[in-house]
Amino acid sequence: MKHWDFDIVVIGGGHAGCEAAAVAARMGARTALLTLDADKIGVMSCNPAIGGLGKGHLVREIDALDGIMGRCADAAGIQFRLLNRRKGPAVQGPRAQSDRALYRAAVQAELNALPNLKIVEGEAADLITEVNQVCGVVLADGSHVRCGHVILTTGTFLRGVIHIGDKSYAGGRMGEAAASRLAHRLDDMALPLGRLKTGTPPRLDGKTIDWSVCDQQPGDADPEFFSFLTTEAKVRQVSCGITHTNPKTHEIIERNLKRSAMYGGHIEGVGPRYCPSIEDKVVRFAEKSSHQIFLEPEGLDTSTVYPNGISTSLRIEVQEVYVASIRGLEAAKILQPGYAIEYDYVDPRSLDSALQLSGISGLSLAGQINGTTGYEEAAAQGLVAGINGALAVQGKELITFSRRSSYIGVMIDDLTTRGVTEPYRMFTSRAEFRLSLRADNADQRLTEFGRDFGCVGNDRWSKFQEKATELKAARNALSNISATPKEARHAGIEVKEDGARRDGHALLAFPGVSLTSLMPLNASLGEISDSIALQVERDAMYRSYIDRQMNEAHRLERDSNTVIPAGFEYGQISGLSKELQGKLARVRPENLAQAGRIDGMTPAALVLILAHLNKAAKRAI
Ligand code: FAD
Repeated sequence: MKHWDFDIVVIGGGHAGCEAAAVAARMGARTALLTLDADKIGVMSCNPAIGGLGKGHLVREIDALDGIMGRCADAAGIQFRLLNRRKGPAVQGPRAQSDRALYRAAVQAELNALPNLKIVEGEAADLITEVNQVCGVVLADGSHVRCGHVILTTGTFLRGVIHIGDKSYAGGRMGEAAASRLAHRLDDMALPLGRLKTGTPPRLDGKTIDWSVCDQQPGDADPEFFSFLTTEAKVRQVSCGITHTNPKTHEIIERNLKRSAMYGGHIEGVGPRYCPSIEDKVVRFAEKSSHQIFLEPEGLDTSTVYPNGISTSLRIEVQEVYVASIRGLEAAKILQPGYAIEYDYVDPRSLDSALQLSGISGLSLAGQINGTTGYEEAAAQGLVAGINGALAVQGKELITFSRRSSYIGVMIDDLTTRGVTEPYRMFTSRAEFRLSLRADNADQRLTEFGRDFGCVGNDRWSKFQEKATELKAARNALSNISATPKEARHAGIEVKEDGARRDGHALLAFPGVSLTSLMPLNASLGEISDSIALQVERDAMYRSYIDRQMNEAHRLERDSNTVIPAGFEYGQISGLSKELQGKLARVRPENLAQAGRIDGMTPAALVLILAHLNKAAKRAI
C-alpha cells in the first residue's frame, strides 16, 4: 500500500481534470492527476471537435491564460472553420474538427512535460477528511494520497448509467466502469445531487459510406487557430460530408419511439435542450421533414466517422434501420451504437466563485459534475479550480473571474448563482458584455491578469509583450491623428460634416474606413502588421457600442426593481428568443429582478426587456 504527499490531487483525466492539473503544476503546486485509466487521459467522449459559438471563446480564454486546450486542438486540427464568419467578430466562434488520437496524444504530451505533475492510475474511492477539511484521497486498492486540496472532475462517471433502448447498465462512458463508491461518499457529505443525461450517435465505418452522394464541406482557406501562439495547421486538412434525414427516417423513429430509452420511460435525468437526440428532434420539430447530418471523420488514420446530428438511445436494431434510410448511409456499418448516459451532478450553487465547496474546505469541483456539458466548459472550469486550488495551498488570495472580462466569468457566475436545470452550455447570448468579450481579444483581456497570479509562462508572456508593444504603437499612432471633417475628406475619408475634430480611433469607427485609408493622415500607420491592424480596426468598430453596453449594464443593476406591467407583450420584443418570450409570458414576472431569475434568462435579454419597458413608459407619458 502506497502513501504519497502532494499539494493538490485532481481526480479525473478528462478535459476539466487535465486543465486543472496542468495549471496547478504550472503555478508550482506539487500535483497528482489521479484517473481510472491513464491511457484515456484527454479522450473526447463524444464529438471529435473543439470550439464553436461561445465555446470557441472559452478556448481562446483558456489559451490566453496559457492553458493547454487551444494548443492541443490546434495540434490535432484536421479542419478549421470560423463560425458566423459573415457576422460581426463578437459572435464569430473558432471551431476545429479534431483527430481524436492526435488530440489525446497532444494532451498527454503537455501533461508529461510538466515537472510538478505526477500521473497516478487508480480509482478514487473515498476522500480523507479531518474537521471539515478534505486532506486526501483513498484509492480503491487502499492506497492513501494526502494533499492540501482535492479537485473533483469525474464527468459523467458518478453513478453513470448507460442506456440503449430498453437495456441499461452501469458505466461512466462506453466501455468504462462508473464511479459508484465516490458517489456514496458525496451522499454522506450531504451534497445537493441531481440527475442529468446526455447522448451520443452511433459511429460509422467511413469505408461503407457512399460519399459520392453527400455534399462536401471543406475547412476555411485561411484557418483561424485557437492558440495565440499557433501560426499554421500542423496536419493534413480534410472535408466533412453532409447528408440529411428524410420522411422515411422520421417514420422509422416515430414508430419505434417506445423502444428508445428516453421515450420508453427509462431515463429520469434532463438532457441538453440545445443538443437534442434525433428522437427529440422528430418529436419536438414534427413539422420538419429533414435534419442535417455532418459526417465528421474522427481522424486521419481511421475510417471511423461521427455522424453529428443523430445522437440516439434507440435499440441497436432500430439504429441500424434508420441509419440505412439516410442517403449515402444505405450500406453504412455501425462500429459502435449510439447511447444515452445518465449521471449524478452536484448543484453548482453549493460552490463559490473559485469553484470551492462552501462549508468544507480543501475541495473544488469542476466540469460535467457541476451540471455543464461540453469539453470547453469543462476545461474552463478546470482552469479556474486549478488556479484557485494552487493559490489556496500557497496561502494566497483566491481570484474571481468577472462577467465583464471573460466568458469564463459569465459561466462561473451563471452556475454558482443560478444553478442549472439542464446541462449548461455556453452561448454568446449569455454574455451581456459580448461586444467586448471577443475571441480575438482574449489575450488582451486575460494574459496580463494571468501573469499576475503566476499561471502564464515566460514564453507566452514574452510573445504577448511583443504584441502589446505593437498594439500600443498602433493605438498611439491613431491617437496622434486629429482631423476635421474637411481634412478627413481631403484624405479620402467621408465623415459627418459636424465640424468636430476626430482622432484615428473615431475615424476608424466609420463604415468602410480601414487603417490603410488613414495612412495619408499618419504615415507611421504603414509600419503596422496586418494582424495588429485587424485588432485595432475591430476595437474601433465596437468602441461606441461597448460604451453603450456598459451603460446598459449599469442601468440594469440600478433598475432591477422596475415593475413589469401585467399585460406586457413579450412577443413584440424583437431579438428576444421565442423560447424566452414563451417563458416570460407563462411566468409573468412582476419586476426585472424576478425576470432575471427565470431559468435560461440572460443579462442580454434583460437589457432588451428594460429598453422596451422604458420605451413603453415614454409613450405613456
Ligand atoms: P470527463 O471527460 O467525463 O472525464 C472524467 C474523468 O474522470 C475520466 O478521466 C474518468 O476516468 C475520471 N474518473 C471518474 N471517476 C473517477 C474516480 N472515481 N477515480 C478516478 N478517476 C475517475 N458534450 C457536448 O458538448 N455535446 C454532446 O453532445 C455531448 N455528448 C456526450 C455524450 C456522451 C455519451 C458523453 C459521455 C459525453 C458527452 N458530452 C457532450 C460531454 C463531454 O464529453 C463532457 O462534457 C466532457 O468530457 C466533460 O469533461 P469532464 O472533464 O468534466 O469529464
